[in-house]
Amino acid sequence: MEKILVSACLLGQRVRYDGGSHGPFDLLRQWRAEGRLVALCPEVSGGLPTPRPPAEIPGGQGAAVLDGRVAVISIDGADVSAAFVTGAQAALRLVREHGLRLAVLKARSPSCGNQQNYDGSFSGTLVDGEGVTAAALRRAGVHVFNEQQLDAAAEALRQLEFDPNARRNLRG
Ligand code: SF4
Repeated sequence: MEKILVSACLLGQRVRYDGGSHGPFDLLRQWRAEGRLVALCPEVSGGLPTPRPPAEIPGGQGAAVLDGRVAVISIDGADVSAAFVTGAQAALRLVREHGLRLAVLKARSPSCGNQQNYDGSFSGTLVDGEGVTAAALRRAGVHVFNEQQLDAAAEALRQLEFDPNARRNLRG
């Protein structure tokens, strides 16, 4: 069975920086009941506490953090890059362990966001970009969707399960 990596906060786990969570999402509930989901909070896996100060990536590019060109900075000025990179590495271990090819991650998170990110000014300004874990997964060939793209994720799952060669045609 094709399994899917999912942001733990989307499953109601209270791991957000402010101690909150998201959902419920009917499709995620269904996939969890089917035993498909592998949950992870990269920031908690990276050693950060909950609650924790919010953090942003100046410029919003998680790949630049992986390459050591930009630091993830918390609102109180701390460099928390090491924890974010450790969390991304935890995600990659799960990818290898479970043979994961799909992920559904929380949008606009400095770890999990797959399309947009806050720009580092803590002013609510969004830029095109992706979080540190999302960038690592994309580089590893995992198709990353967010919670607003569940229909597309379901279609990708269908293609992978019924046409294993369809991978090159997937979006996400
Ligand atoms: Fe954890 Fe990602 Fe959710 Fe943030 S968005 S709380 S890093 S799972």
